[in-house]
Formats: sequence, C-alpha cells, structure tokens
Amino acid sequence: MTIFEKIIKGEIPCKKVLENDEFLAFYDINPKAPIHILAIPKVCVKDFDTADSMMLGRLSGFIQEVAKKVNIDKSGYRIISNIGSDGGQEVPHLHFHILGGGKLKWENLV
Ligand code: AMP
Repeated sequence: MTIFEKIIKGEIPCKKVLENDEFLAFYDINPKAPIHILAIPKVCVKDFDTADSMMLGRLSGFIQEVAKKVNIDKSGYRIISNIGSDGGQEVPHLHFHILGGGKLKWENLV
C-alpha cells in the first residue's frame, strides 16, 4: 500500500485542504514552494499515463477549487504530475503538485 493510500484511509495524518467523494488535497510534507499542495484521487491509479481521461477532467475541476480555496487562483500557480522513473515519480499513486504563493522559477521543478 502506498503512503497516499494510508493518508486516504486516515492511517497517516495529513494537513487537509479540500476533500470530496472522489478526491483529496493536502499540503506536501516537503514543500518546494510557499504553497505546495498535492491533489490525489481516492481510487488507486498509478499515474497520469494510466488514468481515465474523464476522471482527470473532474480532477482538473477539483484542482481549480483548491487554487481558489488557498487564494492562488488570481496570482497564478503551477501544476505538475511526475510520471514514472524518468519523470521522478516517487509515490506510485496519481497526484498533481499544486505550487504557488510566489514567483516560481523553472528550476523549482519538483
Ligand atoms: P513525487 O516525487 O511526484 O512522487 O512526489 C511525491 C510527493 O509526496 C513529494 O513531494 C513528497 O514530499 C510528498 N510526500 C511524501 N509523503 C508525504 C506525506 N506523508 N504527507 C505529505 N506529502 C508527502
């Protein structure tokens, strides 16, 4: 079981930002920007590449809600999903990094 599945089950605590039936957003434990949030589906999906495109559409709407909730929707933000080995993915459960709260440099990539 991945660490994110344990967070979904409540076995590991997280600093929750937003949740609905399908998705959960919480602060990254090792932030790479002033605001660094992870948005994940509650179902087990390995990565963006194997995810259902309809679900990704709903996740996009959820990410927009998260950005609004933490007030970075107007100032701007960056979303990243690492995929597989070359993509630098450490946790094999689909997640989007939502980064903002300051001017991001391209070198700030997670
Ligand atoms: P990735 O390299 O794209 O798989 O990103 C995994 C992210 O999960 C990293 O940015 C970690 O800091 C973050 N992370 C790992 N464990 C936790 C945790 N328990 N709570 C919050 N974020 C976590």
